[in-house]
Amino acid sequence: MDENCVFCKIVSGQIPSTKIYEDENSLAFLDINPATNGHSLVISKKHYATLLDIPGAELEELILAVQKTGAATMKATKADGFNVLQNNGAVSGQVIHHLHFHIVPRFKNDSLNLSLGGKKAGQAELAEWQKRIKKHLK
Ligand code: AMP
Ligand code: ZN
Repeated sequence: MDENCVFCKIVSGQIPSTKIYEDENSLAFLDINPATNGHSLVISKKHYATLLDIPGAELEELILAVQKTGAATMKATKADGFNVLQNNGAVSGQVIHHLHFHIVPRFKNDSLNLSLGGKKAGQAELAEWQKRIKKHLK
C-alpha cells in the first residue's frame, strides 16, 4: 500500500467508493467523473504504478476482472460498445499512479472524442520502428 495513493485508500476503505465488482486481487468501482454513464475503473488491490510493474500472473487475473466488468457494464447500460483505456505515466494522461483500466461504455452519437489522430507513416519508417522495438523483445 502507498500511503499517498487515492486508490490504495479506496482498497483499504479509508476513502469511499461505489464498488461494482470485487475478488481476491481486483476491485472495480464507478469513476467519480464518468466520461459516459457507467464508466468504471478496474484496479489491482495491490499498488503497482503502471502496467509494467505488475507481475504477469496478477495481470492475468486483473484482465479477467476487466472482461467480467465490461460484460456486465454492456448489459446494464445497453451500450453499443465500450473502450478499455489504460494510461501509463503523466504524459499519457495518468493522474492516479496506481494501475487501473477504464471501462467506458460507448453509445451511438455519444460525441466522446477519443481519436488518436495519427499521420500516415511510410514503409521505411515502420520498418525502422519494427527493428528498434523488436530488439527489446528478444
Ligand atoms: P487516469 O487519468 O487514467 O489516472 O484516471 C484517473 C481516474 O480516476 C479519473 O477518471 C478520475 O475521475 C478517477 N478518480 C479519481 N479519484 C476518484 C475517486 N475517489 N473515486 C473514483 N474515481 C476517481
Ligand atoms: Zn495505490
